[in-house]
Amino acid sequence: MTDTIYAAATAAGRAAVAVVRVSGPRARAAVRALAGKVPRPRVAGLRTLQSDSGPIDQALVLWFPGPGSYTGEDSAEFHVHGGPAVVSALLEALAALGLRLAEPGEFTRRAFENGKLDLAQAEGVADLIEAETEAQRRQALAQVGGALGRAHLRWRADLIEASANFEAAVDFPDEEVPAEVADRARPHLQRLIGELHLALADVDRGERIRDGFRIALVGAPNAGKSTLLNGLAGREAAIVTATPGTTRDVIEVPMRLAGYKVLLADTAGLRDTHDEIEAEGVRRARAWASSADLRIWLVDGSSSAIDPPPEELTAGDLCVINKSDLPPGDDTGRALLEARALELEMHRISARDATHVGVILAALTDQVVQRLAGDELPTATRLRHKDLLAEALARLEHALVVEGSPELAAEDVRLAGRSLDRITGRIDPEDVLDRVFATFCIGK
Ligand code: GDP
Repeated sequence: MTDTIYAAATAAGRAAVAVVRVSGPRARAAVRALAGKVPRPRVAGLRTLQSDSGPIDQALVLWFPGPGSYTGEDSAEFHVHGGPAVVSALLEALAALGLRLAEPGEFTRRAFENGKLDLAQAEGVADLIEAETEAQRRQALAQVGGALGRAHLRWRADLIEASANFEAAVDFPDEEVPAEVADRARPHLQRLIGELHLALADVDRGERIRDGFRIALVGAPNAGKSTLLNGLAGREAAIVTATPGTTRDVIEVPMRLAGYKVLLADTAGLRDTHDEIEAEGVRRARAWASSADLRIWLVDGSSSAIDPPPEELTAGDLCVINKSDLPPGDDTGRALLEARALELEMHRISARDATHVGVILAALTDQVVQRLAGDELPTATRLRHKDLLAEALARLEHALVVEGSPELAAEDVRLAGRSLDRITGRIDPEDVLDRVFATFCIGK
């Protein structure tokens, strides 16, 4: 028999109200023991909660009989005053009744196991709790609403058609397989392949919305990267000094631009060095910069010896010539030519001037919106989805290659179906589920 679990659903600390949830076969007995009369289903009842050692608090008690509850089991919620002592007294009383403290994500895992939501929706619940920006919230909400599950159903329809054709032909001796088998299966495979390509192209956007759009500040030490970073972030996030090579590691500063989460990072000054610790910093900075979604190459416009552009730069990145308040150095013209050849978007500023920083902020906002906004929200949003979509796609493309051998093609289609099924988690082994739910907070 399943345990009955309990946990505080609200964050620790003082608050007006705290919510403690209970789910499992003994939920009703627990409500009766603490609150006396069980309230009508889904209607709040005001009760004084009592433990063996006396009254705990006045609480609103909600009773959700299964299977119509969030977890699909009998569940209850106690809305108590949000003081830490009140919450711990209630948790102790529930423990004394023999209930068990829930693991992280265990309520949602039970909902998943009872068929209340699929794995992608459960991930959406976790994302919704983590959401800090408007875009993250909208994307997570679409996922909780089952956007990926609906796409999966559509894909399955084509899979079933393709597979039915191949499976029906498996019994034919090789030389007698009618050519129509492949002809009938092909349009379904092709449509599915097209859809999976689109979904995969969108995962990157989904991941950026979820995890943040990454912008790297690159350029020689002393170019003014820390100054610009502080200006952009609106606070002293990096230490500004006049000694080259002070910023030794990658400092990520979270920001919000046009409702999107952005991570802006200063780098250790991409230059060769013999100092071991600094060399490690440079290595990390390079890796961060080359995997970033956008780079800003910051150049000290007053310098007469500008380093060549870092190799991490790609077309569409920004070239910002800094220190426009000082007389230009002899090398600026060459840097500009190199930036133009790389197709960088050019700006000339003084990082010490807030108005100039505003121009860069606007340019970054444009880039983020251009790359992340779309008519529709991405349905696949994380690496787990991306890997499974790519697996399925590879199988289906192989099926097209071997379409003349129905047995081989049928096997490919079957395996593609398994990969897609795993997106919604219907056939996932325990350890995969453990990993997904371990990222949840307790009480959800
Ligand atoms: P980083 O090594 O690239 O991070 O550069 P910092 O931000 O630490 O700046 C190096 C030096 O240049 C500091 O003394 C800054 O005050 C100065 N600096 C940065 N931006 C400007 C600017 O626009 N004009 C002038 N005159 N000095 C600047």
